[in-house]
Amino acid sequence: ELRVRFAPSPTGKLHIGGLRTAFYNYLFAKKYNGKFILRIEDTDQDRLQTDSIQNIIESLKWARIEPDYGPHVSNQDDSVQGGPWLQSKRLHIYHQYIKVLLNSHKAYHCFCDEARLSLLKRNAAKRQEKLSYDGKCRHLSDQSVQKFIAEGRPYVIRFKLEDKEVCYNDLTTGMHKNNPFKQEGDFVLIKSDKFPTYHFANVVDDHLMRITHVLRGQEWQLSTSKHILLYEAFGWNHPVFAHLPLICNNDGSKISKRQNDIDVLSYRRNGYFPQSVLAYLSTFGGGISINILENFFDDYAKVCEKLVENFDENEMSSRPVKLNLDLLNNINRRFVRLRLRSGQDERKSLVNELRELVKEKFKMESDDFYLSEAYLTNVLDWCQDRIFTLRDLVQDEKNSFLWMDMSNLNQLVSGSMRNNLKCLVKVMKQFLDAKSQDLKDSSLNSKIKKDLNDLFKNRLENISEDGTKINYWKLSRFLLTGRLDGPPVLEIVNLLGKDITIYRLNVAEK
Ligand code: GLU
Repeated sequence: ELRVRFAPSPTGKLHIGGLRTAFYNYLFAKKYNGKFILRIEDTDQDRLQTDSIQNIIESLKWARIEPDYGPHVSNQDDSVQGGPWLQSKRLHIYHQYIKVLLNSHKAYHCFCDEARLSLLKRNAAKRQEKLSYDGKCRHLSDQSVQKFIAEGRPYVIRFKLEDKEVCYNDLTTGMHKNNPFKQEGDFVLIKSDKFPTYHFANVVDDHLMRITHVLRGQEWQLSTSKHILLYEAFGWNHPVFAHLPLICNNDGSKISKRQNDIDVLSYRRNGYFPQSVLAYLSTFGGGISINILENFFDDYAKVCEKLVENFDENEMSSRPVKLNLDLLNNINRRFVRLRLRSGQDERKSLVNELRELVKEKFKMESDDFYLSEAYLTNVLDWCQDRIFTLRDLVQDEKNSFLWMDMSNLNQLVSGSMRNNLKCLVKVMKQFLDAKSQDLKDSSLNSKIKKDLNDLFKNRLENISEDGTKINYWKLSRFLLTGRLDGPPVLEIVNLLGKDITIYRLNVAEK
């Protein structure tokens, strides 16, 4: 059985890079009917952040990348499957396994204090080498070790490295060869606070959880040879490794956890559909070679299934990728259209999502006209090519006329406009009464437009008092929206419907 895991450390909010890793694991698991596990690696007590675990779980939930096993999923067979899934609940397991390495002399206690270690570090730096522990405590006798422990001296447990090359074949990045001994010397497995290090807990857990493939970010590539040595020391087979490409900002700079526009829930806040984010992420590392903007999706409900179907782990690439908001925007726009075409249920849920946004943003009562199904549907049909996300409808200044409280529209009308207003309003109202049936039929729009144009010309052209020409289209738009720029007047009238149009005209006239 194929088993993969996503193993974040709860040191902050889950960001887009983490979600990418989780998603690729998910795709892989689903493709082969395998298991996808969430394991929280919370052994670095200094870097833990409260709420981080909650944030990770909520982010995955929003993106609908639900793990089969994880700290928040309760399954009868957790222990059979390799749980618990939170490393801080597994300390007894690491202590059991460290004994195996101590007994076989593959690990040893080290009592070197901070002062000595920083001296070694400084000396290594002078030689322009990485920190290289010199292995002093390797040679302590068993009696000394017992004595020091009995005296209560603080210690760590280190792995005894051999000076040898480690070689392995990465599924995405190919052959790797390096010698961890030369890199940094014997590394720590158990820290002085008795917690395991990332390397140790990671290897023990991947083995006990029967992980077959490790898909993780490329920043872990260098650690892999250390992990392989640990697997060997235990006599275990190691999983297949696949390191996924680094992600950087559009300008090439590194993404960082502190950046506040790349945490997963900020995409939710900004109105992107989870499906859009997933489709976008599927371009972050190969594996899906189809161009997702070219008619790839015809059924919104099946976006994720389609991605799974088209995933090919042998096509994953190692080329670094750049965040590309334009691509995400275009995908989201596509999905707005797709959802509007996807049948009643999908349309309804889109209307509901928009209703929530409008209600929240403008603090409207539930019976407000603007929240009605008919109006919201109208707005959605109209906006398809104008927005990237539903949020644009409530956030963009240029769309504010859609939700405008028109009660002070009359205050916006300046003196010179007012002179031309009465007549215009009257003409418009008559016109609307006569045409209200036709207005609903957009195929008649060009005819109506011509009629209205003629009307503006014949009846209104010369009424300006100071003799200047008036652009009645502009003026009508202003009366209806409080703005001089915006969509064509007939589009606005169609959108608002006759009642709201007349209401706005009345207010403006007051
Ligand atoms: N805890 C590591 C992280 O935060 C996991 C690396 C791995 O998947 O092995 O990314």
